[in-house]
This record gives sequence, C-alpha cells and structure tokens, in this order.
Amino acid sequence: MPYDVVIVGGGPAGLAAAIRLKQVNDELEVCVLEKGSEIGAHILSGAVVDPRALDELLPEWREQDCPLAEVPVTENHHWMLSRSGKFDMPHFALPPFMSNDGNYTGSLGNLCRWLGEKAEEMGVEIFPGFPASEVLFDENGAVMGVATQDMGVAADGSQKADYQPGMELHAKYTLFAEGARGHLTKRMKAHFDLEAECQPQVYGLGIKELWDIDPAKHVPGRVIHTQGWPLSESDSWGGGFLYHQAGGQVALGFVTALDYANPYVFPFEEFQRWKHHPAIREVLEGGKRVSYGARAINEGGWQSVPQLAFPGGALIGCSAGFVNVPRIKGTHTAMKSGMLAADAAAAAIVGEREKDALDEYDTAVRSSWIADELSRVRNAQPLVSKFGGALGTVLAGADMWMRTLKIGLPYTMKHETDAAKTGRADLYKKIEYPKPDGVISFDRLSSVFLSGTNHEEDQPCHLVLKDPTIPEKVNLPVYAGPEARYCPAGVYEFVEDDNGIEQLVINAQNCVHCKTCDIKDPTQNIEWVTPEGGGGPNYPNM
Ligand SMILES: Cc1cc2nc3c(=O)[nH]c(=O)nc-3n(C[C@H](O)[C@H](O)[C@H](O)COP(=O)(O)OP(=O)(O)OC[C@H]3O[C@@H](n4cnc5c(N)ncnc54)[C@H](O)[C@@H]3O)c2cc1C
Repeated sequence: MPYDVVIVGGGPAGLAAAIRLKQVNDELEVCVLEKGSEIGAHILSGAVVDPRALDELLPEWREQDCPLAEVPVTENHHWMLSRSGKFDMPHFALPPFMSNDGNYTGSLGNLCRWLGEKAEEMGVEIFPGFPASEVLFDENGAVMGVATQDMGVAADGSQKADYQPGMELHAKYTLFAEGARGHLTKRMKAHFDLEAECQPQVYGLGIKELWDIDPAKHVPGRVIHTQGWPLSESDSWGGGFLYHQAGGQVALGFVTALDYANPYVFPFEEFQRWKHHPAIREVLEGGKRVSYGARAINEGGWQSVPQLAFPGGALIGCSAGFVNVPRIKGTHTAMKSGMLAADAAAAAIVGEREKDALDEYDTAVRSSWIADELSRVRNAQPLVSKFGGALGTVLAGADMWMRTLKIGLPYTMKHETDAAKTGRADLYKKIEYPKPDGVISFDRLSSVFLSGTNHEEDQPCHLVLKDPTIPEKVNLPVYAGPEARYCPAGVYEFVEDDNGIEQLVINAQNCVHCKTCDIKDPTQNIEWVTPEGGGGPNYPNM
C-alpha cells in the first residue's frame, strides 16, 4: 500500500504529525499504524499536560469538546516524604518553569482518542490493531516503509487456520512514533548508528492506578508530586504523583528510576508501600481502585537525543526521547517534534524529494523551544542519579536555577545504561516488602487483571531471549533473578522444575508493553518485539 507518509504509533507524537501533515497539504496520503486495539488502548501517562504544542496545532481545542480542557490545574504541591511525614516545598524554591499554572490534568489516552478523531476527519487513515513489526529498505538502503505483523501464527511458528500475512506499507517518509523504547526505533538506532554522538538513553518505570475516591476528598485540578520515601530506603530514586482529575477520580502513580543498583529493588512493591504513606493513604481510604497499568518513561534528557533523521525516516516523540524529567512532561515536546517532522516531510514531498534524510527536521528541533526547555534541565537527572534523592535534588535545583538565570556553566553530565548500573546481588541485602492488605495495596496478578491485558495464547513468545540459558546461568546466580521483580505484570517467574532446579517461565500473555525488561535486563538478553495485533493492555482512560 503506497503512502506519502507512514507513521508508526498513534500516540501524541504520531497523531500530531498526522494532523500537521494534513493541515499543510490535505492531498498527502497519510496513515498511522497503532498496535493497540484502538487509539489510546496502550497509552499510559500521568498526566499534567502543558498545552503549548496543542495551542500551536489546534488553537481552538478548548472549545471543541477536547476532554483535556475539563480540568485545569488549580493547585500544585511538591512534597518531600519521610516514612510518615511530609514537607510541602514552597513554590519560590522551584524555578518558575516547574509551575503547573496554565496546564491541564486528564487522561492522555482520551486526549489521543480525541486527536485520532480529528486526524480521521482530516482524511488520515488510522489502522488500530496493526503493529509495525519490520522495517523495509529499498535497494539504496533507505527506509521505504514498514510491514505489519503476520496474524494467526502458532507458538511453534506454524500457520493456523486464520493465518493472514502482514501488509507492506510503502512511504516516501516513515516517522517512528513508538514512544519510549520502541522496538523498531531500537533497530533504527543500531542500523544507522543514531546514538554515536549522544549519551545512551536511560529510563524510569511508571506504575499507575486510577481510583474513584470519596467525593468529599476530591479537589479537581489539585496536583501533587512526591519525592523521597520509600525509595530513599534503598538508595534508589524516583517519585510519586497524585492528580485529581475528572469524574471524581484520582490518577496516582510511582516512577522508579531504572538505574537502581540493588537488584532486590521491586518497583511494584515500592509503589504499594508509597500508597501506605499517611498523606497518600488518607486520600484513598473509602475509595475504589478501578484501573492499573505501567509504562517506561525516558529520563535521558537533552544529551540522550539521538540523530533524528536518516534516509527515508525520522524519530519523533519519545522514540527520540524529549521528556523534561523534572517536570515529568513529554507530551508537549512529543507533539511539537511530530509537528516539526511533518513540516519537513510535507515540504520535501512538495519539492519532489523522497526517502532521503530530513536533516532540516533535526535542525528545526535543535533550534526550537524543545531544545531551549530540555537543555535547561539537562543535568537534573544525572545529578540526582549520582548524588541521590536528597543531595542530588538540591544540586539539581541549583543547576536549574542557574540555567534559568543564564549563569549556568556549560557542562553536560553523562549517563550509563540502566542495565549496566545493575549491581551484583551479593553486594546487597534482600529487601522484605510488606504483604498487600487488599484495600490500599494489592498483588501483581489482581492488578494486571485491571489493565484489561489480553494476548492470543497460541503465538510465538514476543519476549525473545537471545540466549535462553542466560536467565539460569547468569541472571539468577549473579543478580538474584531481577526480572522476577522489575516486571510490573509478573511476566517473569523462576519456578522449580521436577529436579528442584529453578527455571525461568515467561507468562507473555500478561505483558503490559511497558518495555522494562528490554531496558533493565542486566545481560541485555531480552528483546521485546511486537506480539500479534490488538494484544496487550486495554486501558480505558490512562
Ligand atoms: C507514568 C508516566 C507519567 C507521565 N506523566 C506525564 C505527564 O504528567 N505529563 C506529560 O506531558 N507527560 C507525561 N509522561 C510522558 C508522556 O506520556 C510521553 O512523553 C508521551 O506519551 C510520548 O508520546 P509518544 O507519542 O512519543 O509515545 P506514546 O505515548 O508512548 O505512544 C506511542 C504509541 O505507539 C504505539 N506503538 C508503539 N510501537 C508500535 C509499533 N511497532 N507499531 C504500531 N504501534 C506502535 C503504542 O501502542 C502507543 O500507542 C508520563 C509518562 C509516564 C510513563
């Protein structure tokens, strides 16, 4: 199927690119492939959204029933937590750009559903349930499109009765908008050596729930961020969020930076512990948990942005990595990058170019407000990572203030991959986590149930071990089998076989597509590839 532009991924970046392409030239043939069963089904975010890009793309969005417009941010708190206490950081201590005034809180999934409708009204073809599983190259080595995943392949690789081969979609330009740790993006980074001149990308794991809470406690627009406890107890770092959103709900979640060294750290259990903090628990008591999910978030910042354009293709949004880590915001930058790539692709096509590198897109990003915003906070993540949650936060704050006042030194700190940061188990003490109480805290399996996750069972495992012996030979003896803990869906389990020897079992049907295993596996032996179309979570309004 020939198109002018094929976009892989129907998140904010991909949809903003699609809409912009049609705004610039409505004759362009544009298609969006989305692996979720519908647009929004695989989207998980906070979210407090800075509307800057949305204002540029669709200035009338507030008057057009956009669900995001429902709840403007009304109150903003930043709490430093100890085990039982909290310190509400005064606003004057934070640089002005950390303020959420003028932002909105709501479901990013629902914003994407609304953007998807806009795109379709403009003539964009959207194919939900179709993962792009392979990149196609022409005879000159340029990307010429993608192929979608075959359907109806059995676990042993044979074709079932409902077998359907994937489609080839050919394009003058292919935009990769897969979000954090996109699997085709990872291949493009390796194939075109796109990270040769930047730092490696690093990530956090965000685990999130939606709760219906007691209406007496609900304050629409109140947003709270927390730092400190409980991760301070394991020398790791990250933070929580709790946003009062539409419909009497709060969205709450917890991001654990994946650079933790202690392999006994258990991000899911840290989140459960955090909910028991008196200040968080108080909000949840009397409420009901209604949804659960998890997703990795980029934390590398400006120094991890790779080369963005290559022959026939470009990376946009979190495929490239434009998250402002101290603000925990990447939606506005994802959308803006999609718009800049669309401008470049539309102009190139009018100029009768195709399948070359859109270098002007790369240049445009590096001179846009994305660059200005991200370069200001570029040392925040590495300072906290290096000096820990307490001292690191003070240093990061000082660094951001100095850059805001334009007296920052021109240094940029480096990263090491999250996989490489994982330490040997014999250097750490096992962490005992409390049992869930079934009221505030829960176990993983009942949680995954609430994510609506479903995969066809008889299909090849989409969590591919490059060497199937590594989990038992290396991961278990050296790192105490961290995959059994970092996965928020309980996909990886070490189970004793008939001879009493522990073997790795992969429950791939539980996978919520967060990509943490691909990121954190210390031996980099696990490769996440797309499963059969429509598989994965079915998030309502995450
Ligand atoms: C816990 C958490 C909290 C966050 N909080 C905030 C916040 O409050 N404010 C904010 O602005 N940002 C926040 N972010 C970041 C924000 O969600 C991202 O920056 C943003 O979603 C990036 O948009 P994207 O379009 O690049 O990628 P995504 O939103 O990840 O969308 C990618 C889409 O592509 C699809 N896809 C991936 N691979 C394929 C494939 N091969 N074929 C077909 N489809 C594919 C996916 O299913 C998905 O729908 C948060 C992130 C997390 C994880």
